Parts: sequence; C-alpha cells; structure tokens
Amino acid sequence: MTASTPLNPALTTWTGHEGLPRFDLVKDTDFAPAFEAAFKAHEAEIDDIAANPEAPTFDNTVIALEIAGDELSRISSIFWNKAGADTNETIQALERDIAPKMSRHYSKIGMNAALFKRIDTLWENRERLGLNLEATRVLERHWKGFVKSGAKLGKDEQERLAAINETLAGLGAKFGQNVLADEKNWALFLASDEDLAGVPDFLRDAMAAAASDRGENGKYAVTLSRSIIEPFLTFSDNRERREQAFRAWIARGENGGETDNRGLIAETLALRSEKAKLLGYDNYAALKLDNTMAKTPAAVNGLLMQVWEKAVARAREEEADLAKLVAAEGRNHDVMPWDWRHYAEKLRAEKFNFSEGELKPYLQLEKIIDACFDVAQRLFDITATEKKGVAGYHPDVRVFEIRDAAGKLVALFLGDYFARSSKRSGAWMSAFQSQHKLKLKNGAVGELPIIYNVCNFAKPAEGKPALLSLDDARTLFHEFGHALHGMLSNVTYPSVSGTGVSRDFVELPSQLYEHWLTVPDILKRYAVHYQTGEPMPEALLDKVLAARTFNSGFATVEFTSSALVDMAYHTAETQSEPMALEAATLEKIGMPQSIVMRHRSPHFLHVFSGDGYSAGYYSYMWSEVLDADAFAAFEETGNPFDPGMAKKLKDSVYSVGGSIDPEDAYKGFRGKLPSPDAMLAKKGLAA
Ligand SMILES: [Zn+2]
Repeated sequence: MTASTPLNPALTTWTGHEGLPRFDLVKDTDFAPAFEAAFKAHEAEIDDIAANPEAPTFDNTVIALEIAGDELSRISSIFWNKAGADTNETIQALERDIAPKMSRHYSKIGMNAALFKRIDTLWENRERLGLNLEATRVLERHWKGFVKSGAKLGKDEQERLAAINETLAGLGAKFGQNVLADEKNWALFLASDEDLAGVPDFLRDAMAAAASDRGENGKYAVTLSRSIIEPFLTFSDNRERREQAFRAWIARGENGGETDNRGLIAETLALRSEKAKLLGYDNYAALKLDNTMAKTPAAVNGLLMQVWEKAVARAREEEADLAKLVAAEGRNHDVMPWDWRHYAEKLRAEKFNFSEGELKPYLQLEKIIDACFDVAQRLFDITATEKKGVAGYHPDVRVFEIRDAAGKLVALFLGDYFARSSKRSGAWMSAFQSQHKLKLKNGAVGELPIIYNVCNFAKPAEGKPALLSLDDARTLFHEFGHALHGMLSNVTYPSVSGTGVSRDFVELPSQLYEHWLTVPDILKRYAVHYQTGEPMPEALLDKVLAARTFNSGFATVEFTSSALVDMAYHTAETQSEPMALEAATLEKIGMPQSIVMRHRSPHFLHVFSGDGYSAGYYSYMWSEVLDADAFAAFEETGNPFDPGMAKKLKDSVYSVGGSIDPEDAYKGFRGKLPSPDAMLAKKGLAA
C-alpha cells in the first residue's frame, strides 16, 4: 500500500445506531492499510508516554496507557469479528499476516524499558498515590504484565527469555502438527459384516465418506477424529476392532519416528521451568497461577484430589455394573478401556429410554431467546428490545437494545445464531466496544458496551421454526451469560472491564447462567411444542435430567487424571523423563485399568500445543465448582430469582469485571469461598 491510500474512517469512527459500526461501509481491502496506520499511531502514543519529561503519575502513565491504541482496538474488533464469523480468502490471508505483526507490536511495548521504569516507580510508591482498590489492581496488572515479559531482567537474561519464548512457540506448533499427522496417517479400513457389526447407519455413512476421502471407495474407515472414533468405540460389537482402534487413538504422538512428541514434551517442560525460574517463580505452575483465583498449585491439587477420591469410587461402581453386562453376554474378560463406552451405551439405553429428537419440538430458538432475556429481567432488571432494520455485520445478525429499569440504554447486543460456511464452528461471545468510564482523547467520557454472541445452530427452511437440541439451548444461555458479564460491567478502567478476569473465573457468569434454563418455571413457559403450544411433558424432562449424571464417574476420572498429570508436569523438579512422570502420577493416584486419561501427554494439545491451558486444564473443573456452588445459593433461598441474592450477584460478580480479586468477588456474593459439594452433587458424586 502506498502512503497515499486513503484510510476508511468507518473503521474507527462509528456512526451507526447508538455508536454501532457501519459495517456496510467497510471493505476487506480497507484492513491492511488501516492496521499499518493504527500500529504506528499506537507506537507514537506509547513513545510519548514513555518519553514524558514529567515525573510519572497514575494519570500520565497508567490512564494514558489505558486509553492509548483506540484506533487499533476498533479496527481489531471489526477484523477479528469478521475473521471468526464471516470470513473469506482475503480475510484469511490477512489474518496470517496480521497475527504475527500484532504479537510483535505488543511484545515491543512489553520490552519498553523507559515505559516500565515509570510503571515500576508508580508500583514502588503505590501506597502513597492515594489510589482506590480498582486503580491499584489496574496498576498491578500493568506492572505484572511487564515483569512477566522480562522487563526487570538484565540484558542477557532478557535475550535468553526471548529465545526461550521463541523456541517454545516453535515446539508448540510442531507438537500440534505431529498430533494432526498421526491422526491423518492412521485409518482402519473395514468391509466385512463381522467387522462392521453394531455400527449404526449414521456412523457407517461417516466412515464411508472417510474411506473414500482416503481413496478406498466401497470401504468404511475408522479414523482417529473424535467424531468417528468415539461412536465406533460405543457401537461396534467387534471387540478386536475396538481394541485395535483404541490403541491407535491413545498412541497419537507416541509412535516413534518424525511425529513422536515425547522429546518435544521434555524440551518444552525444561524450557518452561527455566523461564519460571528466570522470572523468580518456584516452577511454571506457580507462574501461571499467579493471577488466577486458585493462586497456588496446592489449592488446585487440593480440589482435584478431593474430587478424585469420589470419582474413582463411583467409577468402580460403574465398572461393576458394566462387568455384569459383559458376563450376561457370556463373555469372560475384564472391562477394558475399549469396552467401557460400548457397555455404558447398552446400560444407558436400558435405563433411560428416550432420544434427543423427542425434545426438539419443544425447544424453539425464538422462545429460548425470550427465555434468556426473561431470566435477565427477573435477575437484573434489564429489558431487551430488538431493533429491526438496524444492520449488523451480516443479514442474519439481530440487534437489540438493552435498557435498565429507568429506561436508560446500558448496552447494545448482537445475536448471530445460524451456522454458515463463512463462520468457524463453536459458539462465542466478544465485544466490539467494552464498557469503561474514562475520558477519551476525543473528549467523550466512557463507552457503551457493544457485545455479540455467535452460535452455529442449523438454519431452518424458509417459513419453518428453528428448533434446538437441549445442548444448543444450554449453549445459548451460556454465551448470553458471558454477554451479560460484558453488558452489566460497571468499572472505570477498560483493561478490567467485563470478561477481563482470570481464566479460572471467566466461565462463572456463563456456566452459572445455564442453570436458569432448566428452572421449572422457565421451562413451563418457554419449552413449548412448536405446533401444539403444549409445555414439555415432565416425565420426559425428568428422564433427560436424570441421564445427565449417568457415567459421570468415568468422565470425571478421565478429566481429573489429565488435570493432575498437567499439574505434576509443571511442579516437578526435573523434566527429563516426562512419560515416566505420567506413569508414576497415575500409579500414585490409583488410576483404574479400565479408564485412560482423556488426553494422554503425547497428544495433550491443551497443555503442549500452546500455552493456553498449561497448568490450567484444571480451570474447567474450577469453574464448575463455582457455578454449582453459586446456583446453590439461590436454591437455598427456595427462590431461583431471589432478589437479594440476584442483587449481590450483580454487584459482586457480573458488574465488577476484573476490578477486584476474584476470590473477594466471590465472597462478596456468597459470603464464603465455594465448596465442591454442589458440583459433586450435580455430577451425582456426592457421598
Ligand atoms: Zn464460556
């Protein structure tokens, strides 16, 4: 691009309804030059802050940093929304180009010595600055961010840290590619009736397609993708084939040769440990947990072991039930990992005789959206009104105004519910604009949250209602819970707004919100048949809810063993024999021979293909503890919409973002720290 390329103002000055971007005025070719200009503008702002001749103050340094980079964040929010929800080849090519530039841009800021010196001075003098709690936390976050990027280290150590980070990034990418290669390279081609015994039609179709993809027309392929291997292990009556497939599945990344991940694991762990020690932590887990709610490896292991004992006891009972089915078939063998899913499905079909399809007519998308808004009104006194005719970023996107009891506009909400080929899979919440109260460079004070939810529900034919599965309905509530975290945010500083909280706290508002979907009063009103208007029969609903705790010993053992091994790796003194450490950890906790970790180390992508969930796999369960305990607070009052409880929930959780410590936030709502009892009860694992 030449310097004279005119920049499109629609990217940074939003003139749509209540400050919504005018998406229709943005072209794909606008992004590249806009990013270039925004990087430069942000860099200049950072240089000005760092070079300010005045002594550092909270205003001229921290607040200045908080409001810097406004253009960059506006362009980014529109771009990443498009990259996820409505992409094309131009955007994908740009993504590959922008992602590394973005990372370089921010690591350069993190290494800015003059800037860190100002932050460090403020941090050292924080007691004397007269800051309130929120401002102190914002300062602490900036300071810790710099420290973790190595700002306090000497020149040689900084170079070493940079080299470690670079090597780790490369190792992570290679790890993921190796798992993918092992998944691609293995397939079991079946053709005989004996080999295909028990395989249902839907799976046969998928296996036939997988075989012809691999040039084996007329055959059926078992592959290692979860969507084929899991149903195959569940439905195949052929024990030998199940064992063969299962063994290949758990050997991903451990097959010798070029794609073997064991060496990469040892190298990754050694470098992570070195990095932690360089930055002054005992081990990598301590580094990663530093800004979480759990805070320490001991707290994480405490929870995991408490759950582990109960889960193993339940799994042994489940195994005994399955062993009876094996014996009843006249077979004489232990329940092995390649048998579990198969016999569990037989038991499930016997105990809970219903199909998901029976629920669908009662779960209309429109009604479930209404239910979501109704719960928000009853808990938080806000209303949602759809603004037909206001354009979102795609014709399917719907725009809603969210207003408080006094009628004041508190947020814009965009709902993008249907699957399309330009959208990536899954469901997520994000923000075009986050709430805060600072004065911006253009003179405006504070900003309205503009939040969106993206889902992938099947779009119905013209004139037909969109019907959901129960999982879909839960997803809708889950993502709306995240959206509320953004929309109810009431903080001063942008960096702690809404979902700007730690990884083991961020799922609380979303997972908690799911509970209100199955409150009887909500279901009676909103889960009504799309043709007859009749509410869902209670007997059907009871069966569905009871089935949710089925096989939970197995699932919890699978999960918890993986989380414990993740923690063992990142707290161990030496990292030279990771596979021996995996084996020793499983032996120590008494892993049943009938169950294998959900993710064995050589293909544990959460932990080794990137840094996201290293010493962090536990956080899925941590959040479950929080949401179950939090909903129990409402149940204890006897009213799922108890106004006193709802007010505390809003004041201490949904509105405070990261402005207070997550532990204090939780105690503000619940009066005490969470106990795992409610989660164990929800999983059917209570004593
Ligand atoms: Zn979530």
